[in-house]
Amino acid sequence: MRIEEDLKLDYSDVLFRPKRSTLASRKEVNLMRTYKFKYSNNEWSGIPIMAANMDGVGELGIAEKLSNYGMITCLTKQHDIKKIKQFKKIKSIYPNIALSIGIKKEDFENLDKVLKEYNFIKFLCIDVANGYSERFSAFLKSVRDKYPTKTIIAGNVVTADMTQELILSGADIVKVGIGPGSVCTTRIQTGVGYPQLSAVIECADAAHGLGAHMIADGGCTCPGDVAKGFGGGADFVMLGGMFAGHDEGKGKIVKSSGSKFIEFYGSSSDTANNKHYGGLASYRSSEGRTVRVKYRGKIDNTIQNILGGIRSSCTYVGAPSLKQLSKCTTFVRVTNQFNRTFVD
Ligand code: 5GP
Repeated sequence: MRIEEDLKLDYSDVLFRPKRSTLASRKEVNLMRTYKFKYSNNEWSGIPIMAANMDGVGELGIAEKLSNYGMITCLTKQHDIKKIKQFKKIKSIYPNIALSIGIKKEDFENLDKVLKEYNFIKFLCIDVANGYSERFSAFLKSVRDKYPTKTIIAGNVVTADMTQELILSGADIVKVGIGPGSVCTTRIQTGVGYPQLSAVIECADAAHGLGAHMIADGGCTCPGDVAKGFGGGADFVMLGGMFAGHDEGKGKIVKSSGSKFIEFYGSSSDTANNKHYGGLASYRSSEGRTVRVKYRGKIDNTIQNILGGIRSSCTYVGAPSLKQLSKCTTFVRVTNQFNRTFVD
């Protein structure tokens, strides 16, 4: 047994230190980024925020809205050829969607079918809860061999060594985060995890050293956390809970004590397993929660609120663009992130 004594940090453990700035207004802040990916050589421009491939979030309705802002949606694994065919606007949003798969044989077959017909889709997201297995790297290699021109996202991992391993196995973009998610119970069920801000800082460094990119996936509770992800060096920030509860996610609205709610659940929750896989296998335990999120109407307001927050973070630290945010970032460690008098 070994203990690492280095302090590892979450988003809530830090704040941006404000810096003198020449920016006159947050309107001047440019949030667009352009990336060229290591293996696919594809170029992408947009605002590098992603919707997670979770039910109620990684949906085509969300993708349609997010794409207007140049943001990416990772569609849930349930988006098979039938579901995609029903959506007529795919051609207008394809640069901003990713097809998700796990590492099962059926996943590969499903992907094949979709790409035969919709070969213009550029992003693939190979997503497992634990990206540390040899089987995962081997599967990633086989997808890379088969689809040399697709931009492959792979995860999840939280350490530099495995970020490098996934990149060397063919990932253009590594997805980082184990346990920080709003409906994740991995840390409770298994005791496994890594504080998200430190994971982002360390994996960004590893990915950039190899000319690849990374996503800070999970753990954002407010626009400030999204900005902290970028400040820590993330190329993309992926959101689940912050994008849940909206009309576009098509969740069922339930009324309770005069308020409206939408059910939201983790991809490895009992709810998800019952819905998609006919229940949880007996040797597994659920690692996700099912919650009710306050109904929040149209997603536009939420998006504008997030973007407004990030623009403001940039002005506070003197970054004229999102690209410069990380360079302009000095985090101060805090023991109290904000005043909770009227919150709890
Ligand atoms: P959030 O933005 O809600 O904090 O985090 C979203 C991320 O949580 C997802 O992109 C995914 O990586 C992770 N996640 C989603 N469902 C589950 C689950 O059931 N269990 C665990 N461990 N993580 C989940």
